[in-house]
Amino acid sequence: MAREPILSAEDTAPPEVAPAIDPQQREEDVALRPKRMEDMVGQREVYERLKIAVDAALIRGEPLGHVLLDGPPGLGKTTFATCIPRALDVSLQIASGATLAAPKDLLPYLTNAEEGSILFIDEIHRLPKAVEEFMYPAMEDFRVDITLGEGVSARTVNMSLRPFTLIGATTRSGMLSAPLRDRFQVREHLEFYSEDELSEIVRRNAAKLRIEIDDASAEKIASCSRGTPRVANNRLRWVRDYATSRADGKITLDVAQTALKMLGIDHMGLDVQDRKYLETILRVFHGGPVGVEAVAHTLNTATDTLTDEVEPFLLRAELVVRSPRGRKLTAAAYHHLGVTPPVDFRSAFAEPIDAEQERLFE
Ligand code: ADP
Repeated sequence: MAREPILSAEDTAPPEVAPAIDPQQREEDVALRPKRMEDMVGQREVYERLKIAVDAALIRGEPLGHVLLDGPPGLGKTTFATCIPRALDVSLQIASGATLAAPKDLLPYLTNAEEGSILFIDEIHRLPKAVEEFMYPAMEDFRVDITLGEGVSARTVNMSLRPFTLIGATTRSGMLSAPLRDRFQVREHLEFYSEDELSEIVRRNAAKLRIEIDDASAEKIASCSRGTPRVANNRLRWVRDYATSRADGKITLDVAQTALKMLGIDHMGLDVQDRKYLETILRVFHGGPVGVEAVAHTLNTATDTLTDEVEPFLLRAELVVRSPRGRKLTAAAYHHLGVTPPVDFRSAFAEPIDAEQERLFE
């Protein structure tokens, strides 16, 4: 079978990865992002294991094994990926799985990789199959097979690369193929943060943003941050803006509460979109079970937004359960929405998933 040529004259420097965030927020994000792994709050077990792998690589003078980080957005995957090269004192290149459409898009990153350096690919589950397969020999033997020319004149050139480390981040480890997953020597899953950890992050970041905050306010912002540092940072920035323009520049409990209420954030930290999701399942689909695509269509939202950004925390907060028949509200969700569960409501924890389980409730 003729292979697609993957190299042409235009293949030069790595394409720019354009972030879809406004420049001021990006600058602040950089300022708030911990620079060293030691400065990261929480995720202690992941930190310990990565530190051991990094120290061992330094002692042996070898590149770190490839690392896969998975977990919902905003929990620190990129932060780990930017701290690890600092710990190893090597350079870092950043790419996104969504922009690597063909092997030729990945090639410049691989050829530019310095000995022992890090290549971070965010959203690695979005890599097309052809790019993924192109990466296998690069990960395993630090070489790539390049097809030059087309048709009968096509020839394959084997090119060696300098040994490097790939750090992949994904919100959907389930979507990674087994051969790709197996090529990562270190695989870590990031969990949601406790309120104490988020309070600590809020206090530290308030100091970085040079705003005064008391403990009660830091705890309030933390408890409304869905277990996620990125959300905590966003809430803190909003409360800071509110304190600057409507109060005397200090964050007190009263200021924090009023500012969060103005954003429509409730005591569990759910925002308008989260509640719309729950209300849609309740009103339109009678509490479920319902497929996530149907909810997404009704809300006029992308399914990925729901599965990646909205659902992980709602599932963890046990407001929704996922079963083979779809999403279903729990009794806690009914109570949260101020609605009494229907009389025949069975706790979602007892959601029957097959005929045998069904009998348990008869
Ligand atoms: P992800 O890549 O998982 O989506 P990021 O690494 O970009 O998440 O984290 C989002 C923001 O949250 C970072 O800019 C950083 O300010 C903050 N953050 C994440 N993890 C931590 C942590 N462990 N300690 C302190 N701040 C953190």
